[in-house]
Amino acid sequence: MNMHRAAAAKTGRKEAPADGRSGQAAFFSKELLTWYKANKRDLPWRANRDPYRVWVSEIMLQQTRVDTVIPYYNRFMDKFPSVKALAEAPEEEVLKCWEGLGYYSRARNLQAGARMVMELHGGAIPDDTEAVSKLKGVGPYTTGAIMSIAFGRPEPAVDGNVMRVLSRYFCLEDDIAKPATRTGIEKLAKSLIPKGEAGDFNQALMELGALVCTPKSPGCLPCPVMEQCAGRLAGREAELPVKTKAKPPREELRAAVIVRGSGELEGKILVRRRPEQGLLAGMWELPHVLLDAGKRDWMRGEGPMENGDVAERLGRMVLEETGLLVRPAGWHSDAEHIFSHIHWKMRIFEADLGDEEAAALASFASGGDDDPADAGGAIARRTVAEAAAERRANYAAAAAFGSNGSTDEAGDSRKAQDGQAVSGSEHYRWIGPEDMQTLPFPNLFVRLLRDYWI
Ligand code: SF4
Repeated sequence: MNMHRAAAAKTGRKEAPADGRSGQAAFFSKELLTWYKANKRDLPWRANRDPYRVWVSEIMLQQTRVDTVIPYYNRFMDKFPSVKALAEAPEEEVLKCWEGLGYYSRARNLQAGARMVMELHGGAIPDDTEAVSKLKGVGPYTTGAIMSIAFGRPEPAVDGNVMRVLSRYFCLEDDIAKPATRTGIEKLAKSLIPKGEAGDFNQALMELGALVCTPKSPGCLPCPVMEQCAGRLAGREAELPVKTKAKPPREELRAAVIVRGSGELEGKILVRRRPEQGLLAGMWELPHVLLDAGKRDWMRGEGPMENGDVAERLGRMVLEETGLLVRPAGWHSDAEHIFSHIHWKMRIFEADLGDEEAAALASFASGGDDDPADAGGAIARRTVAEAAAERRANYAAAAAFGSNGSTDEAGDSRKAQDGQAVSGSEHYRWIGPEDMQTLPFPNLFVRLLRDYWI
């Protein structure tokens, strides 16, 4: 694809001059840079060109608005001011600092990348495009941003914003969802970089996309490049860029349970840690199960909120994963959350420990070193395991949490979704509100539990 030629044909301008760039392109680079220098926002990551600061900010800014990122960025830099500090931090602290920003694999990859910098480059991010591109979680866009902003290298940094601006300015009709289009636009963007101005130019492009040439309503009148914008001149700025629609997120119906502690666990609830791989890896959550599509009407509100089958599934899951026998206490709320590719619709129930279970835990607590009430620590694993062994054997008869007594093993949602079995109660903890300060939860559960404890 020769994007310059295509653009020149659209506007009737001739391809130009000696430096190989069209007049339209040269105009764009010059005017954009001038506009940026006069209008750039004072953002915390622009205080200097430290590559670590650039790296952290660019990862945070992916899929996330600048206003949202600023407080997160400041907190993150206070807590992890250097590659070394980030590399050496416990993962849970890093996730906690990221809590609410979403796309948590970004945080885990950033830390993995920091560890690579420590191991492979002595703690200094290298002035080397290939080496930077090999860091965990660093794709072509972030490589370009780090290399141009921190090191002044003439590398393009092309994301959705930049593809939108260039598609409009050059009136490009190629589908920006296609990798070949991205490759073409990267070449075009690289050719537009003025000598010695790579960092400012790339930031100028991002800034124009964020402030002026916005997705839904491009502000053409004050735009510094309007005069030669082919999309605008053709009256097509609102329909560009061409982008095939992504598939809508897949709906998943889920049922979760808030298990309330009693006795020494009064005021605490039971939470579990997700597996180390997959969606929301390593974060904490309420125990929950995946429901089949047959529960769709029920989730829409048809019929009573309580459902014996679902209650049984939840009770059995808690029993199998912790050894605890819980007792239903009714519907709590409904909630939902949309990830990039999955839409969780969740119905939340409350349950508590039956009298017998509470008494058993109390006696374990008073008689041994596995104190279940130990500052929200892990469940008393040995004692719970002992209790669980007996309960599992008698579970069909003891199905106190549900009505149909099914012992079907196929319903474990975490196996179904993540392809990874839950290994046992070390994934579970009793927590109180104070633990929300340290344990990282996805937004859905942060909101739920804050409401629960208010
Ligand atoms: S003139 Fe309008 S469409 Fe063209 S780059 Fe500026 S804001 Fe975007």
